Amino acid sequence: MAESTQPGTPATTPTSWGWCAWHQSYARGVRLIRAIEQGSGPGASLFACGPCRKTHNLTPLADLPL
Ligand SMILES: [Zn+2]
Repeated sequence: MAESTQPGTPATTPTSWGWCAWHQSYARGVRLIRAIEQGSGPGASLFACGPCRKTHNLTPLADLPL
């Protein structure tokens, strides 16, 4: 009987599974992006995956300076 000191599966993963509004499909690691201008409406919050954020030069809402 050997004791293993494996830390096990990490419980917290930074990736999230959701709908990417840019390539219109579910993707892993989506981040909240606010893409709709709020000039004449309530605005909308959309999610984008990593590749789409690079392609469209999107900045996650959480990373924007307030
Ligand atoms: Zn995407």
